[in-house]
Amino acid sequence: MTSLEELAATLRVALGPDRVLSDRQELRTYECDGLAHYKVTPGLVVLPRDATECAVTVRACAAAGVPFVARGSGTGLSGGALPHADGVLVVTSKMREIVEIAPEDERAVVAPGVINLDVSKAAAAHGYYYAPDPSSQQICSIGGNVAENSGGAHCLKYGFTTHHVLGAQIVTPDGTLVELGGRAPDTPGYDLLGAFVGSEGTLGVATRVTVRLTRLPESVRTLLAAFATTDEAGAATSAIIAAGVVPAAIEMMDALAIEAAEAAVACGYPPGAGAVLIVELDGPAAEVEAQFAQVTALCEAAGATELRIAADTDERTLIWKGRKSAFAAVGRISPDYIVQDGVIPRTALPEVLRRITDVAHARGVRVANVFHAGDGNLHPLVLFDDAVEGEAERAEEVSGAIIDLCIEYGGSITGEHGVGADKAKYMPRMFTADDLETMHLLRCAFDPAGLSNPGKVFPTPRLCGEVPRRHRATDPGAAAEIF
Ligand SMILES: Cc1cc2nc3c(=O)[nH]c(=O)nc-3n(C[C@H](O)[C@H](O)[C@H](O)COP(=O)(O)OP(=O)(O)OC[C@H]3O[C@@H](n4cnc5c(N)ncnc54)[C@H](O)[C@@H]3O)c2cc1C
Repeated sequence: MTSLEELAATLRVALGPDRVLSDRQELRTYECDGLAHYKVTPGLVVLPRDATECAVTVRACAAAGVPFVARGSGTGLSGGALPHADGVLVVTSKMREIVEIAPEDERAVVAPGVINLDVSKAAAAHGYYYAPDPSSQQICSIGGNVAENSGGAHCLKYGFTTHHVLGAQIVTPDGTLVELGGRAPDTPGYDLLGAFVGSEGTLGVATRVTVRLTRLPESVRTLLAAFATTDEAGAATSAIIAAGVVPAAIEMMDALAIEAAEAAVACGYPPGAGAVLIVELDGPAAEVEAQFAQVTALCEAAGATELRIAADTDERTLIWKGRKSAFAAVGRISPDYIVQDGVIPRTALPEVLRRITDVAHARGVRVANVFHAGDGNLHPLVLFDDAVEGEAERAEEVSGAIIDLCIEYGGSITGEHGVGADKAKYMPRMFTADDLETMHLLRCAFDPAGLSNPGKVFPTPRLCGEVPRRHRATDPGAAAEIF
């Protein structure tokens, strides 16, 4: 017997036969995350029901020297949950218990497989919600959010996942259950919870997460502003922030992204616009009203050609539908695309967008831009047709050049989608060998044997220079309904 077969037998005895999948067809369901052009069939899939079963699984992997990868909902866009061919994929989709909603403490305690939006749904009855809201919030898991330090439209005002996680129970890579952080606002010693959030599954598996709940705002107002150019929309974004207003969200879409969203979900954005901004304000009603007047005036001064104010929840939902379906919608206008993710200082937006267009034109591909403008968090969608000779390579070059631009302007190679398998090769462009070595030391303190999600985040010779081939668009109709 190979060690994987032995491991499968051990785990079937410990957890029950239905918790361990080894049939090739079943395993193939898990061969990629949202970045579908990287595919690896896992050696084994294990579906623990709770923290104890998760610890048993990891301990067995450690004893056998077998690598393991945690997987939540598999919506990651950097190949973070890409399985290991000779390893175990630990899938948390059966760990969906909302353990506690404690409004008096403004806390919720949840299992890692709980869907992001379900936390808000459970808290709503108490007048609360969970603020970090990735566009995938209807399907992504809290464990995945913690591992990626996920952001979302409303993170401009409310901060990223790391600002909303107070504690986590984790299984360390040797199979021990430990608590990081806690219910108290601060704990003595090193901020190991801070290190765990955003570590992309390389420091162990989160088995329970304590998150901060945020009070539902008294008032929410949403505005759609159309501009002739992204320059003007960028200028409006900077003017709003410079005026001291911190909207809950400022999102931007360019003409190509608008065209795609319109084709997919008929969101009714102003025809012919070169760019739209979605600006949302929330908070006490009087403050929202005053700031809303300020924001509309600033958009007009920046050259807005049309302003639409959502009159009710339906209109607000329609405005957001175009934005939230944008990634998948791009499948309507291009057979293949790469979703890039980088961040730049907000003030550099107009210049960087111009340079992205230049780079794309020079290589004969198109780029649609849809992003969290308030954070300077870019999501250029590089469009191509894999059937056209050389186009995939040119799109990949444009994608890499965008990352270089983010670094040149003082930003980062990832805004919120993580490094995963996809961007490990870019890490040396941003960090020195000493920087990477220091990060390795931290990783080794948790995982000396390197079993927890190996091959991710850190560049290895295997990944250097790898050029992915296919980026097939997902079915836009189906995805548009989900997101
Ligand atoms: C249409 C679409 C829109 C998106 N919009 C956004 C957005 O606005 N903002 C944003 O930040 N992201 C966005 N994403 C990316 C993705 O949804 C997030 O990264 C999300 O946090 C991934 O969660 P998941 O449960 O799917 O994780 P997975 O894809 O399953 O895993 C992601 C990473 O987390 C690790 N992991 C998973 N569970 C655990 C655990 N319990 N313990 C330790 N490690 C774990 C995995 O090993 C992997 O490295 C979007 C994705 C899609 C497809």
